Formats: sequence, C-alpha cells, structure tokens
Amino acid sequence: MNVTAYIGLGSNLDNPRRQIEWALDALAQLPGSRLEAAAPLYQSRALGPGPQPDYINTVARLCTTLAPLDLLRELLALETARGRIRDQHWGPRSLDLDILLYGDLVLADQDLTLPHPRLAERAFVLLPLHDLDPDLILPDGTALTRLLARIDRTGIVRL
Ligand code: ATP
Ligand code: CA
Ligand code: CA
Repeated sequence: MNVTAYIGLGSNLDNPRRQIEWALDALAQLPGSRLEAAAPLYQSRALGPGPQPDYINTVARLCTTLAPLDLLRELLALETARGRIRDQHWGPRSLDLDILLYGDLVLADQDLTLPHPRLAERAFVLLPLHDLDPDLILPDGTALTRLLARIDRTGIVRL
C-alpha cells in the first residue's frame, strides 16, 4: 500500500547544504519509495545545548510502501552513513531525518512516535511542510495553518 510520508531533514555540521542534498538523493532511492517533492531550504538558529552552528532544514514528501518501522530503520541507516554520532541530546549533527507524518497514522511505539511529537512547536518543520502542502490537516484534525498562526518564527529564514 502506498502511503504519503513527510520526512524532516536537518543538518548543522560538515557542510549542511550538501548533507541535505545528499539526503534528498538518498530518499529518492529508498526501496519501494518515490520522492514526490522537497520544500525550500530554511536556515535557523540551533535550539540545543551550547553554541552550535545554524541548522539547514527542509521537508520531503515521500510516497512509500515501506512500513513505518522499516522506513525509520532506513532513515537511521542514512544518518549513520553520513557519520552521525549520537553523543549529546540535541547536539550538533551531520544529518537528522525524522518521520513527521506517515499518512494519518497515530503511533506510540517504543522507537517511533507519530506524528512526530515536537512537530507542532517547530517553525523549521511547519514552514517547509506548509510550502509543500498548505492545506495539510494533521491526523487529529488540526489544520497546519492553525499551528503556523501561533508559531515563533524568530531566527528562521527561508533561503
Ligand atoms: P527530536 O526527536 O526532538 O527531533 P532528535 O531528532 O535529535 O530529537 P534523535 O536522537 O535523532 O532525536 O532520535 C532518537 C530516537 O527517536 C530515534 O532513534 C527514534 O527511535 C526515535 N523516534 C521516535 N519517533 C520518531 C520519529 N517520528 N522520527 C524519527 N525518530 C523517531
Ligand atoms: Ca529531529
Ligand atoms: Ca531524529
């Protein structure tokens, strides 16, 4: 079965733009998947601990037959392929790939929460999502535009 999944991409290490371009190429090559669209890039200040380089973020729309946990496994493997080291919570990273939405699926698995639990509070996720799908409705019935209306946009610029 084909499902529309939205993937959040982020990088703030080792040439972030190149990391994102590489990741979009890699997403297009995932088994059973088609990369339908990618939003413009956004640059934003890091939220994590200590001084960190700015982030480059975007969102991709993927049409996929991969099951949610298989998709997650593929994404984590791509992060590892880019040399991501998980040492510090919310620390700097060469590549971060999150599943923002997987169709209308609501899931609270040990390894996978859907929709992504912090989606609603992140301008660097909501803005590119809106670029791709301005009429998007979340699984709980909330319109994306409603979330955007009350989001803090400090420190984020569209490139
Ligand atoms: P955040 O989740 O706040 O964006 P992060 O992306 O830095 O933080 P990671 O260290 O990349 O967090 O991920 C930790 C774990 O989160 C992953 O190994 C994965 O099992 C789990 N996880 C849960 N829900 C999701 C999701 N929707 N997309 C990606 N990973 C998820
Ligand atoms: Ca993340
Ligand atoms: Ca992640």
